[in-house]
Amino acid sequence: METVALGTITHYINGEKVKGNSERFGYVYSPSTGQKIATVPYATADEVDETIQLAKRAFVEWSRTSVGKRVEVLHRFRQLLVKYTEELARIIGKENGKTISDARGEISRGIESVDLAIGAPHILKGEYSENVGGDINAYSIKQPLGVVTCISPFNFPAMVPLAMSTMAVAVGNCMILKPSEKVPYSALFISELWEKAGLPAGVWNVVNGDKDTVQALITHKDIQAISFVGSTKVAKIIYETGTNHHKRVTAFGGGKNHMVIMPDANIDRAVDSFIGAAYGSASQRCMAISVAMPVGKETARAFTQKLKEKVENLKTGAFDDEHADFGAVISAEAKQIILKAIEEAVNEGANIVVDGRNPDVDNQDGFYLGATLLDNVTSEMNIYKEEVFGPARVIVSVDTLDDAIQFINEHQYGNGVAIFTNSGRDSRKFTQEIQVGMVGVNVPIPIPVGYHNFGGWKGSRIGEGQMFGPDTARFFTKIKTVSERWFDSTGTESETNFDFPSS
Ligand code: NAD
Repeated sequence: METVALGTITHYINGEKVKGNSERFGYVYSPSTGQKIATVPYATADEVDETIQLAKRAFVEWSRTSVGKRVEVLHRFRQLLVKYTEELARIIGKENGKTISDARGEISRGIESVDLAIGAPHILKGEYSENVGGDINAYSIKQPLGVVTCISPFNFPAMVPLAMSTMAVAVGNCMILKPSEKVPYSALFISELWEKAGLPAGVWNVVNGDKDTVQALITHKDIQAISFVGSTKVAKIIYETGTNHHKRVTAFGGGKNHMVIMPDANIDRAVDSFIGAAYGSASQRCMAISVAMPVGKETARAFTQKLKEKVENLKTGAFDDEHADFGAVISAEAKQIILKAIEEAVNEGANIVVDGRNPDVDNQDGFYLGATLLDNVTSEMNIYKEEVFGPARVIVSVDTLDDAIQFINEHQYGNGVAIFTNSGRDSRKFTQEIQVGMVGVNVPIPIPVGYHNFGGWKGSRIGEGQMFGPDTARFFTKIKTVSERWFDSTGTESETNFDFPSS
């Protein structure tokens, strides 16, 4: 495993790497080694304001640039993302801890968002009605908002910023990304690719920082829209503060995703699907399966037995360890929170089926946790009620499909859910009755492809608006409707009319 040099992260403002002059810094750690690899400056309110003013200036030209020319930049950006996938995957691995192959996967899903945004000319087409009354034609156009911001989490250092921001840029806005202070390298690398692709200075900016930086951004008078992805606790703060300042806000939060296994399901397939979806990325995915919900005692017995054997063989390791199934968790603090959740559940009566609390790893300083599985878990336990963002997964058995639906519908989160069954009838009932935004039928992580909309329900998304799919363009544009009439230049007849206009 290579040693990463300690470096200093900069902001990326108006086409330049800027060190910033704040006195406040954070540290970036490599989860695989536990080493500090960089210091990251936290932008002050003045620096945020300066960035917004520069972006405002860039907006004048960028919003007037033809959509065809804007999309040319996106084409080049896409090619560069493909060309530099390996470099970016290594950066993601170093600062986030996920394995290189997993990082490649997130980049390829991020590229899907660029593909979608390349379709901006089609998405921006407006509506036109001829002769709506008295020689008047009416049309609606979608115009960019201005300077917008995205605030992103640590778990997808490339995919989420790309998904949140590419369409915003394509439809003519100027972007200020505030990446997670835990993974700022990837955002800087992406900035370099934008620059290489020929994006004009000021259209894409990255300011690093913590909650104070975010506060300065989301309360700034010149920020028109806020797209947030992170924990539900922070999503609520962002939504409330942003809307109190009359911003357009969408805020994606956490999840607790169930996988229902029906008695007629193919148990081997269900087990294999669960393993990847539950433990991949050290379970640090908002769409990770966190609860296995077998229906019926015999299903629970067969599923648990087979699952146990496979979970015991899972291996955690460094991001560049080719034999690792998943990497370390993001921080020493996150590791402690997960350990505490396991301990608390055991004290409340849960049973540890597989104990990954002391994994066999080469580097004891890394933030490693092995795959852990608990059963005898009830809906009253915190390990079931709260999102656990790490490789501790639980089994909650139920008697019927109706019980499963009731459990899931009563949960505070509604991001993703899956059912494994061979019955079309059960699947249909489940997909119709379940109160969850994204549903998989024999698909364990139902993250839609980039051209479908993505978004959870209940506590998993506060506010409306998307970060994938065609609705992203709607979030980042406003509609203007024009009614126009052209007078015959030779005509002289004119009259004043005080009646309400009608057709
Ligand atoms: P987080 O909420 O701690 O941080 C997210 C962002 O908010 C970061 O940029 C951080 O600097 C900022 N932030 C943190 N505290 C803040 C505060 N008090 N005020 C203002 N800004 C603040 O989330 P995280 O730990 O980085 O990411 C993991 C979480 O994100 C999980 O809950 C996961 O489920 C969720 N997530 C959700 C989705 C989704 O699509 N629903 C996708 C990815 C991650």
